[in-house]
Amino acid sequence: MTGLPLCPGCRTRTRRPGAYLCSPCWGALSPAARGRLSERGPRALARLRALHAALVDGVALGQIRIRP
Ligand SMILES: [Zn+2]
Repeated sequence: MTGLPLCPGCRTRTRRPGAYLCSPCWGALSPAARGRLSERGPRALARLRALHAALVDGVALGQIRIRP
């Protein structure tokens, strides 16, 4: 164990501090979802929660939709 947080997408790899997912999981997201999750602003936290909720529901990374 390295002490870095685990990626919530695969729960096997670590993610960099400040990153939502590890690199392979981030790359597996749809370009639209990646773009939305990269946006800052008042909706950023709600988007992160939507990502986590989809992961808990078992939605495949490529099928996760993030609303604007
Ligand atoms: Zn991952």
